[in-house]
Amino acid sequence: MASSFQPGGRPPAPAPLDLVQDFVNTEIPDWNRDDVATPAALGAWLEGRGLTRPGDDVDGELFVAARALRSALRELALANTLGVPPGADRRAAIDAALGAFPLVVRAGSEGVGLAPAGTGAARGLGALVALVAEARAAGAWERLKACRQETCGWLFYDSSRNRSSSWCSMQVCGSREKSRAYRHRRAGAEG
Ligand SMILES: [Zn+2]
Repeated sequence: MASSFQPGGRPPAPAPLDLVQDFVNTEIPDWNRDDVATPAALGAWLEGRGLTRPGDDVDGELFVAARALRSALRELALANTLGVPPGADRRAAIDAALGAFPLVVRAGSEGVGLAPAGTGAARGLGALVALVAEARAAGAWERLKACRQETCGWLFYDSSRNRSSSWCSMQVCGSREKSRAYRHRRAGAEG
C-alpha cells in the first residue's frame, strides 16, 4: 500500500530498501499522520510486510524503540540529503536507537550477510536495520534521502545520475521552498 504513492512520480526505492523507506514514511509530520500510531498498528504493519509472523506482538517497550528507530533513520536520510553526517551531538542518540536492534553475521540462504539478532517483532525491526547496513555496502543507502523541506521529511529515492535531489518533489516542496509564497497562502487559509 505505502509504496503506491510517491510525490513527484518518483519510483520507490528498489526492493528490499523500499521496506525501510515505507517504514519511515509511515509517519508524515507535515500532515500529523502516523500509520503505526499504536503497538497493534505497528505489529500489523510488520506482519503485512512479511517482517514478522502472526503472534509476534509489539509490546510497549518495543513500540517506543521502534519510534526512536524511525526517527533515527529519518535523521540519517536527511544527512544523505545534506551530504554531511549527523553532528557528534546527535550520534549518541542515533546509535542508541540503532543499537536497540543488534545484528549478527549469518551464512544465509543467499550467502553470508547481516541478520537481526533479536526474536519476534524485534527481529522484524532489526531486519530493517540490516537492510540499511547492506544498502550502505551496496551504494544504495546514500540515495535514500529525506526531503529537506523542514516540515516534510518524506523519504524518497534519488535515482538521478549525480544524486543531486533534495526535495521529494520539485513541484511541491522544491517550489514551496523557493517561492516562500506557500507559507503566506497557508497562513491565510488557516486564519
Ligand atoms: Zn517534500
